[in-house]
Amino acid sequence: MNYVDELKRLISVRRLTFQNPKFQDALLGSTVSVNLQALVVHLCSLAEIEVSSVVRPARGHPEGLAIDVGNEKVAQVLLPSIATDAEVKRLKVDQIIFDAREVSRDNDPNLWNYNGGRKAAYKEADLKNHRNHIHFAVMSSFS
Ligand SMILES: [Zn+2]
Repeated sequence: MNYVDELKRLISVRRLTFQNPKFQDALLGSTVSVNLQALVVHLCSLAEIEVSSVVRPARGHPEGLAIDVGNEKVAQVLLPSIATDAEVKRLKVDQIIFDAREVSRDNDPNLWNYNGGRKAAYKEADLKNHRNHIHFAVMSSFS
């Protein structure tokens, strides 16, 4: 399945926006995983998405397997739906990293977090870096 046409449609109706145009080029290009493009199409079915990073030198990003959602306010819409074992498996999600205390102070900070497709607890330092964006990474298509 080719997701590029659907991504272009989502961009044209501004359901999907980018903090920097280079992230749009990256997401539509051939260096990102098809799994990542499929995940973004699904994210856009749940909320408006503003991408704050695609390819950068940090966990999962250099390989075209990760995306950061910069409008983190959508966490409370996106994550209860996606951060379940069934959806993580279906969407081939590797990692979700977001400090859930940003949604409610009483939340377990790792409420929605995954690593390697399993529920995971990240350390405070990792959580601190994931308060103003939601990190999603997908499994490699080759594994
Ligand atoms: Zn990230």
